[in-house]
Amino acid sequence: MTDHQQSAPFIEMRDVYKSFGSTAVLKGVTLSVRDGGVVCIIGPSGSGKSTILRCINGLMTIDRGTIRVGSFAVETLKSDKQLVPLRHQVAMVFQQYNLFPHRTVLQNLTMAPVQVLGENPAAVRERALALLAKVRLTGKQDSYPGELSGGQQQRVAIARALAMQPKVILFDEVTAALDPEMVSEVLNVIRDLAREGMTCVLVTHEMRFAQEVADEVFFTDRGVIVEHGPPGTIFQNPTDPRLKAFLDKVL
Ligand code: ADP
Ligand code: MG
Repeated sequence: MTDHQQSAPFIEMRDVYKSFGSTAVLKGVTLSVRDGGVVCIIGPSGSGKSTILRCINGLMTIDRGTIRVGSFAVETLKSDKQLVPLRHQVAMVFQQYNLFPHRTVLQNLTMAPVQVLGENPAAVRERALALLAKVRLTGKQDSYPGELSGGQQQRVAIARALAMQPKVILFDEVTAALDPEMVSEVLNVIRDLAREGMTCVLVTHEMRFAQEVADEVFFTDRGVIVEHGPPGTIFQNPTDPRLKAFLDKVL
């Protein structure tokens, strides 16, 4: 890494405000993620975590502040057409897997790279099969989503995100809808990605996992970042009473 890469974060949100009607949802959020960094966002329901992710990939416009992702000034991108190059770099995985039910696993992975990016189908197929191996689903390429467990479908969704070769992946509570025995198989895949240097922003209720994989944890409450820091500090030595109260409930 050059000095420049170390000093310039890959994602930088500065003083971001967002309201829906009279409801202020983000009230001056500042957050950065270095290239290859793993950031976890924790906090109570309704505190603005999903909104932060949606602002980063331009799914939502902001009222004030700036968001830079790589070379993109996100708040200046207005049309869907302008947002396309940003969205190629920023993948998002949701709680609901949103796979195409009438397409096979392999087709779910290859459709966008071939149809949207115009890549060579044979090369994309090869990459997709390698990604299925990576998410530990070798042999499932011809299955339909409905034939897979929730944990398997979520791993297909992660492989589909990776098939676009993004620079960063945003994970929004991707294990929240899963049966407990399937949570770890999905977290294992995310842990592999984090270790390989994929830039990740994770909204999660899995506190032990956050503690293990995050470089930095941000605690949100009612639209503000109340406290942030390395996991050791946030979990073992929290200072803000709201963070302490939250951890008392969830740990
Ligand atoms: P979290 O992910 O932390 O649970 P969200 O970012 O989803 O929180 O939501 C924060 C607040 O913004 C909530 O009060 C929610 O009701 C509100 N909100 C989110 N999206 C919208 C929307 N599209 N329209 C109106 N209110 C919204
Ligand atoms: Mg949410």
